[in-house]
Amino acid sequence: MNKELICICCPMGCHLSVDIENKKVNGNTCKRGEVYGLNEVINPVRVITSTVKIKGAAFTVLPVKTKSGIPKKLNFEVMKVINSITVKAPIKCGDIIIKNILNTGIDLVATRSMEKVNS
Ligand code: SF4
Repeated sequence: MNKELICICCPMGCHLSVDIENKKVNGNTCKRGEVYGLNEVINPVRVITSTVKIKGAAFTVLPVKTKSGIPKKLNFEVMKVINSITVKAPIKCGDIIIKNILNTGIDLVATRSMEKVNS
């Protein structure tokens, strides 16, 4: 059985056909497409970008993202964790907000700095 995909690793958007049984990828122009195609059928991952609540800053939410892709099947659970926490200013861009989220080995990090403000 083949799975048809479009590679999202670069703007060329090659059309991939992944032979699931034989773990072979056709249609890729480069090695990245082969890796992407196989991962998509074996263990698809996505980077999650979101926000967490923050106290003591000029804004009420802080933008965050996972440092790399996490298994797609964990997206919902990761969002539950992200929605359940509140951090305190100051935060620097790149600070780890949650280390090893859900034992994935991936950290959730801040994607901008927020100073502490006096309220
Ligand atoms: S296979 Fe390579 S060239 Fe084609 S879209 Fe993916 S990364 Fe780009």
